[in-house]
Parts: sequence; C-alpha cells; structure tokens
Amino acid sequence: MKRLLNNWTPGGAKPLPATLTLGSLRQRAHAQQSRALKSPIVISRLVRGLRPAVTMLLTLSALLFLLVSPASARDVVKGQTALISFAKIPPNSSVVFENKTIPLLAFPNHPDKKFVLVPVAYRTAPGDEMLFIRYPGGEKKVTLRIENGHYHSETITVAPAKVTPNPKQKKRTQAEYAEAMKIYNSVTPRRYWHAPFIAPMSSPITSPFGTARLYNGSLKSFHSGTDFKAAPGTEVIAANDGVVALAKNRYYAGNSVIVDHGEGLYTCYYHLSRIDVKRGQKIKRGQHLGLSGATGRVTGPHLHFAAMLYGVQVDPLQLIAQVNSLFEQPDR
Ligand SMILES: [Zn+2]
Repeated sequence: MKRLLNNWTPGGAKPLPATLTLGSLRQRAHAQQSRALKSPIVISRLVRGLRPAVTMLLTLSALLFLLVSPASARDVVKGQTALISFAKIPPNSSVVFENKTIPLLAFPNHPDKKFVLVPVAYRTAPGDEMLFIRYPGGEKKVTLRIENGHYHSETITVAPAKVTPNPKQKKRTQAEYAEAMKIYNSVTPRRYWHAPFIAPMSSPITSPFGTARLYNGSLKSFHSGTDFKAAPGTEVIAANDGVVALAKNRYYAGNSVIVDHGEGLYTCYYHLSRIDVKRGQKIKRGQHLGLSGATGRVTGPHLHFAAMLYGVQVDPLQLIAQVNSLFEQPDR
C-alpha cells in the first residue's frame, strides 16, 4: 500500500513532464556536481575575484567548503524545488535567495551534513536567479537557471459561483486564503518526520501539478497540486509524520486537511467527503486523515494533494522526491 514516492511511477496516469523524472534530475545534478569538483577553474576564479584582505580571511574550513560546495549553476523548473547539499559548510553560513534566507537543514542520517530546499514559485519568469551562499570571509554564488518546464494546459467547467463568487462568498474565500497563508508562512523550527514521504493514496494520477487552467472560459489559473483518482470514500493517509495545522471545510478546497511536517514544509489534502482528524493533533506517516470526496471547486471526485514550502506552492511529488533522495546518501 505505502509506496515510496521516489520509486514511484504513476501507473495509468498521463506521463509527467520529462523534466520531472527523478532519474534525469539526479543525473544532471550529479554531472554538474562532478564538474565542479573536478574543475580547478571554479576555485581559482573565486579566489581571484576577492580582495587581498578578504583572501586572507579564507580559512581552511572555507577553502574546504569551496572544494566541496555545489556546482555554480543549477537548472530548476518553475514550480519545482531545487535541492542543494553541502558536504561541508563553515559554521555561521547562510543561504539567501530572492532576499530571503533559506534555512540550512541537516541530512536525516548525517546531522553535520547540510542541505537547502529552494522553492521556485510557478509564476517566476524564466531566466537566471542568483542564490548566495554567505560564509565568514566570503560568498559563493550559484546561478539557478529557471526554466518554463513542459506544463500542459486545459479548460475546466465548474459551477459558476466557484468562478465568480458573490460578495459574501468572496469575503469567505479571502478570509480562508489569509488563514492558510498565515499557516504556510510560519516555520515550525523542529522536524517531525524521520522517514521518507509516501503517497497519500495508492492510485493513479489524473492531473499533474502545474497544468495551466482556464475555468469556465474566463478565469486563468494553474493546477496547484497533484490529483489522484479516487472514488468517493477512498481512504486518504498522511504523507509523513506531522501535526494537523488545519482541518475544516473551505470554499474552494472543500473539506481540507493541512499537515505541518516542520521546518516550513506542509502537505494538503483537499475535497474530502469526511475529515477524521482535528487541528493540533499529532499524526504519523500513513495515518488515516479522512475519506476522499468531491467537496469544493471540483468537476468530480478525486484527491487534490498539494505541498507548500516556506509559503511557496510547489510541485508536491517533485518536492517529496527531493526530500526522499536525502535518505539515499551513502554512509561515510
Ligand atoms: Zn487538483
């Protein structure tokens, strides 16, 4: 029943965009990493570019860090998450992207080895964005080459009130949006999970993340999660350990459960026919959350599974595959 997402191919579903295949992502990351490690140019360029006084400050640990630090450029599709890992990084280092500090997190099985997860919002314009790795005595830049990806587009017809809500309904959706964003923007410092993430149900995908959507011929949007085929009443389980951050009915998402996994990562389970957990409840990976349904803005019954990282909506399966790859690091 519980399949690990990183070994997972969605049977019977539309194929995911080619850039989503985990194998190719890993191969590319690996190729870039080995290039950086082998190339002395990267380091000499960096050292040349620094003022003499700053060069003096290049401690042995910083030099070691440069030798093992990530490649100077990475490709990432808008709406996806870049994983950058550091075999060594000096204490008091920080990583900054789009003027925000991205938390340095510890590998699950190697507490002294660090990584960052960098969410790239779906509406980001393709092009180069700089990620800054700041450490005592210097700074290294990594270029994130943001690509458009191969997202599809579709037209969808729903009840008119779900596209043009009346003033009362609109007020409700605005309050629900504010409530959700307040949750997503709060980062619980601790990590609740200790094992790889799993799928919220064992079922084919009917609509992947990122499809451009036109609702009722007027409203332009994009698919903010992954849809699983689910007859009403199918069991929905938690993708990993966490705490229930929200469990209620909402206008667009219908009966919704949001799980806080800690460190700014949340997973969401929408359109349920029944919610069987309460806000504040601690839950375990694979634990029953409720039953699937067709509540909220839907064309039919299914499970909408979504993920938020530091307040940014990202492709949930790609994020999970990145997190799960942390468990595949060989032991030292
Ligand atoms: Zn959906």
